[in-house]
Amino acid sequence: MKKKQVLIFWFVVCSILMGYSQSKENSKMTILKNGFIFDDKFDSKKGSIVIDGEKIKDILYTEDLTKYPGADVIDITGKYVMPGLIDSHVHLATVPDLNREKNNKYMQDQLSKMIYAGITSVRDMTGNAIILADYKRASTLNQLPAPSIFYAAQFGGAAYFDSMRKYSKDKSDTPWEQTITEKTDMKIAIAEAKGAGVTGIKIYSDLTQDLIKKIVKEAKLQGLQCWSHAAVFPATPTDIANAKVNSMSHAFDIPYDFTTEKMNRSKRPDIDEKKLDKLLLLMKTNNVILDATNYIGNNNKLYVGMKVTKRAHELGVKVSAGTDWPYLFEKDHVVPLFKEIKILTNDCGFTNKDALISVTVVGAESIGVEDRGVIAIGKRADFYITNSDPSKAIENLQDGFMTIKSGITYTENKI
Ligand SMILES: [Zn+2]
Repeated sequence: MKKKQVLIFWFVVCSILMGYSQSKENSKMTILKNGFIFDDKFDSKKGSIVIDGEKIKDILYTEDLTKYPGADVIDITGKYVMPGLIDSHVHLATVPDLNREKNNKYMQDQLSKMIYAGITSVRDMTGNAIILADYKRASTLNQLPAPSIFYAAQFGGAAYFDSMRKYSKDKSDTPWEQTITEKTDMKIAIAEAKGAGVTGIKIYSDLTQDLIKKIVKEAKLQGLQCWSHAAVFPATPTDIANAKVNSMSHAFDIPYDFTTEKMNRSKRPDIDEKKLDKLLLLMKTNNVILDATNYIGNNNKLYVGMKVTKRAHELGVKVSAGTDWPYLFEKDHVVPLFKEIKILTNDCGFTNKDALISVTVVGAESIGVEDRGVIAIGKRADFYITNSDPSKAIENLQDGFMTIKSGITYTENKI
């Protein structure tokens, strides 16, 4: 191309890009008119929400909407608007189907099930990062009905990966599944994980407190979250809380803290109430969120998790709502997240409002993001709108009217 042609080419490209950004600026606004809007304490007030693109532009507690002439209006009179729900523990692609078409269908079906149930963000607690990255991108670009996806790299000791890969042909590490030893260059390990698109490290199994501390330090330096199992061995839940991870998963594994004997991985000791309080208060001080996952716990008869969660809540530990359970195989078709929330209110002493805070405000904190989880000007336009009030009866979460993610509406009733 000659110099003149090059200049004309770039002029055309720039014009297209400028036109694109201008059309984005002039994008039509949408008003959710006259609904009951929940604040971060889950008290509601009648008002309207102005959405501009993927963000909340304004919240009006007046009937006068003339400030935004020409905006599209969705009448939600008598309906209830909360922030989009967040499942803090899913596994979308942990054992992907080897058949590509089947796997794509499975991914799309579960993501669709989630979004139509009001779930606008999920934290995936380790799986195949190539598949997760592909779907994260597709969700970000709103190419399919899906929540925003955040995912982790799995860090564990040699013994853990040896047993995991016993029957697998490929026994090598990947950036999202790494064997960590004293010899690991942590800077490189974390950087590789980051390169796989993760936003957190999942501390999984067979690691010492020393190694966990090194992981946490480097992960935080490189801007990643640290999410740990409670049952890591030899590190105890107290060791993990002391290492200041961001969240600890599985309330039913917390009792592994209450023994001085060599720990038995298959048998949980009885609760020692004094030691439990000490650990929970340490979690509270170090701002470690309890990712309780009681639905999977109860399905495996690990009812002790509910006792732990109840006490954690009484002492002021933040509890997120995570299911750790597949979404497509529930015989009653109720989404697992609603069951997780119901356990919080039925068995763990949570008020309806407390449980709703867990699945929104604490959910966002468990992912480590500040742009969602509450309804406020400047936050993402992620909402779940119900026909009836979930703060009065938690079952009303199943009475969905509409999900909005990134300002895009999903109304097809697929629940
Ligand atoms: Zn899990």
